[in-house]
Amino acid sequence: MQVPDDTTSQNPMSSLGDYDHDVRNRYPAPDSDAADGLRDYEGQVRDSVRRFYYQNHVRQTVDFVRSSREKYLPVRTRRMGIWQAMDYLNDWVDDSDPDTEFPQIVHAVQTAEAIRADGHPDWFVLTGLIHDMGKVLCLFDEPQWAVTGDTFPVGCRYSESIVYQEFFQQNPDWHNEEYQTVNGIYEFGCGLDNVLMSWGHDEYLYNVVKDFVPREAQYMIRYHSFYPAHREGAYAHLMNDEDRRMFDHVREFNPYDLYTKIDAVPELEKLMPYYHDLVSRFFPNEIWW
Ligand code: FE
Ligand code: FE
Repeated sequence: MQVPDDTTSQNPMSSLGDYDHDVRNRYPAPDSDAADGLRDYEGQVRDSVRRFYYQNHVRQTVDFVRSSREKYLPVRTRRMGIWQAMDYLNDWVDDSDPDTEFPQIVHAVQTAEAIRADGHPDWFVLTGLIHDMGKVLCLFDEPQWAVTGDTFPVGCRYSESIVYQEFFQQNPDWHNEEYQTVNGIYEFGCGLDNVLMSWGHDEYLYNVVKDFVPREAQYMIRYHSFYPAHREGAYAHLMNDEDRRMFDHVREFNPYDLYTKIDAVPELEKLMPYYHDLVSRFFPNEIWW
């Protein structure tokens, strides 16, 4: 295994968007030719993403996940409305990354608009709009490796299908025998709700919104970065019947997240009345983050 050269900087990627870029390259749209998918995938981005994954895989331990959950759950850091949080997130992304990425709201609205165009129910459109808002964790000073990236269970053997799986050899949990059996600290078929997932924007936002959205939306949000399961079919032995049913919805959501990032920026101003109304039908003015 080749360890990346600089593994110490707090945030190796120029923006969280580098991760999204990487995942889109890993799973190109079925109707795009591969060359197109790889076109602007430069070496520099690839190196920064590699450094990011090294940190993520080495530092996401059972202890880290438990302490993050204690720090943030139940949610109690800040009271904010959905739009207040969206503004907060937008300002921050603009600052950190002035020229390479659109503000978060563009990805949010593009995802939601694609879902709406396909005639899906309003809770599904809403899910597209809010699914990445857990990235406010960055504003609470969490490093990139604790905010984004593919997610995976901790406390049991790391699936071979996890990207850069070899980096886990440097994770202290690799040397804990209890954590390295197939089921690890869990029981066969125990259900994902009983499984500790690596900490990031998915699990965090699930906890912020779970009382306000239907079960399907909760799953889409909570597991949208769990590529080892929803794309690679790993960790089936930890799932229960509800997980299996609900992962159909996680898989249904994934293409909207991955493949709607086109250069045509939606006309936000025109669309805002619709989205304000949509959000107000599901959420009170302020919620805990
Ligand atoms: Fe995400
Ligand atoms: Fe997303």
